Amino acid sequence: MADTSPFQSIAQAERFRFACHPGVPCFTECCRQLDLALTPYDVLRLKNNRNLHSGRFLEQFVLIEWEEGMVFPLCYLTMVDDGRASCVFVTREGCSVYPDRPGACRAYPVGRGVSRGQDGTIREQFVLVREGHCQGFAEDTEQTPSEYFKDQGLELYNLYNDEVAGLLQHEQVQLGFRPDRAQLDLFILALYNLDMFRQELADGRIAMKRPLSPGELQGLAGDDEQLLLLGIRWLKQEFFGE
Ligand code: SF4
Ligand code: SF4
Repeated sequence: MADTSPFQSIAQAERFRFACHPGVPCFTECCRQLDLALTPYDVLRLKNNRNLHSGRFLEQFVLIEWEEGMVFPLCYLTMVDDGRASCVFVTREGCSVYPDRPGACRAYPVGRGVSRGQDGTIREQFVLVREGHCQGFAEDTEQTPSEYFKDQGLELYNLYNDEVAGLLQHEQVQLGFRPDRAQLDLFILALYNLDMFRQELADGRIAMKRPLSPGELQGLAGDDEQLLLLGIRWLKQEFFGE
C-alpha cells in the first residue's frame, strides 16, 4: 500500500527542494486551520513584538489547555472565527509579526524533535511535512534542514526551547512526577507570564534557594531571555527540589 503520511524523516545534512515567498500561489494558506502550540520563547518574542505585558498577551491571544492525563499545560495561539480559522496575525500581505513569528512557523515544513541522553547531550531528529496545500516544494531552491533553520533564524528558538525541554523531559517527569493544580499555575507564571514573574520576584513573593547569578540579575532588571532561564531554574527548584 502506498505511504500517504505527510511526514517523511530527513537527515540533518540531506537536501530537499523548497522555498516560500509572497509569490507562491498558496501564500498564507498554512496560516489557517492550524493548531499552533506556542513555546515560552515564542510568547516572549510575540508579546515584545506587540509591546504588551505578558499577562495581557496571554489574555488576548492564548488558549491554555490542560486535561487529566497531560503532564504540563499547552498554550495555543487563538485563531479568528472567519470560517477558515485563520491565525490572528495573518493579513493579506502576510504575517504581521514576521520578525518574531513562532518557531513552528519558521521551521515549517521541517519538524525538529529533541531527546536528551543520560549525560544531557541532545539528539535531534528531523521530519519533512509534505502537505497537499503547500506548493513550496515545486520551487527550485535546495537546502538541508540545518541550512533552512539557519536561514529562518531558528538558533535562538532552538536554544531556549531546548532549555525548556530540560524541564519537560526531566528525569523526575520520566519517573512519574505530576504537577498539582498550584504547580500548573507556577508553570504558566514562570514560563509564559514573564512580566508577572519578574514583578513577583521583585516584590519578594518568590524566593530562590541559591543567590541569583549576574545573568539572572539582568533578567530581574529587564532581560527577558535571562528571566526565562531563571524561570526554568525556579520551576526545577519548586518541582524537583533542585
Ligand atoms: S504567526 Fe504569522 S506565520 Fe505563524 S501562522 Fe500566524 S500569520 Fe502565519
Ligand atoms: S503553504 Fe507552504 S509554500 Fe505556501 S505559504 Fe505556506 S509554507 Fe509557504
